[in-house]
Amino acid sequence: MMEKYAVFGNPINHSKSPSIHQHFAEQIGKKISYETICSPLDDFATNVHNFFKNGGCGANVTVPFKLAAFELAEFKNNAAQMTKAANTLFIQNDKLIADNTDGIGLVKDLTINNGFNIKDKNILILGAGGAVRGITAALLNESPKLLSIKNRTKIKAEDIVNDFTKLGPIKLYDDNSQEFDLIINATSSSLSNDKLDLHDLPYHQQTICYDLFYSDELTPFLQNAKEQGINQCLDGWGMLVEQAAESFNIWHQIRPQTTYLINNRF
Ligand code: NDP
Repeated sequence: MMEKYAVFGNPINHSKSPSIHQHFAEQIGKKISYETICSPLDDFATNVHNFFKNGGCGANVTVPFKLAAFELAEFKNNAAQMTKAANTLFIQNDKLIADNTDGIGLVKDLTINNGFNIKDKNILILGAGGAVRGITAALLNESPKLLSIKNRTKIKAEDIVNDFTKLGPIKLYDDNSQEFDLIINATSSSLSNDKLDLHDLPYHQQTICYDLFYSDELTPFLQNAKEQGINQCLDGWGMLVEQAAESFNIWHQIRPQTTYLINNRF
């Protein structure tokens, strides 16, 4: 019987995950089904349990259920533990296991696809939501010089700093911050087409600006960065493909090639 996979979210119609996973499955000559499941907001747990009871082999989870997926799981792998959120679920020894591949997806995109070595770099993260929790541990694991966090609601940035400080050098952004080598937009401002003001942020000619959001055109954040003279602008397409490859590896024990999808957006 064909192995069954799915991505849970609400809304979920826009998801690229089914096509990405089908592309990966073709690479290894496997036929899988991978569907989108739009779960009612108050019925996520039942939906997930039914999916696995009916033969589901693995599931991805996206907005707004990453926290609920973490809480639902009976066992949480390291990355999920660190982030308190899960984007990947599977069954092992009859137990629901949670993992989180967002952080490693970003790190792979930065380091392998874009040749950016995180070690000893000065990095700024804008935002303090779920995505920031997903990427912070993975970035600290690569030994940056310093990770600074800046968010519209300061208390949420303080929470992130407190929660991750045991993992490496992390602090709140302040006026004394040195020039950043990498500025990551992990706010959802691009979703609402809002411009983030970069004027006061310290950066240099080689600074990379990375928007976790992806789109066919430059996101407002990257547009702004270009206008400020920053040349290296990246969006989150590579991260999306790499986090999917990591989930695929967890489920199928084979890491698929990502280059084709990185270079051929759809
Ligand atoms: P959350 O809703 O959890 O957090 C949103 C964050 O954005 C908060 O820090 C919020 O600040 C801030 N924010 C929202 N609007 C503005 C604005 N107009 N100006 C300044 N700050 C703003 O979202 P997520 O963390 O889940 O997602 C963030 C982004 O990351 C999204 O664009 C999402 O698409 C992207 N993403 C991409 C992935 C990929 O694979 N490429 C994976 C995961 C996420 P405040 O606290 O003040 O409300």
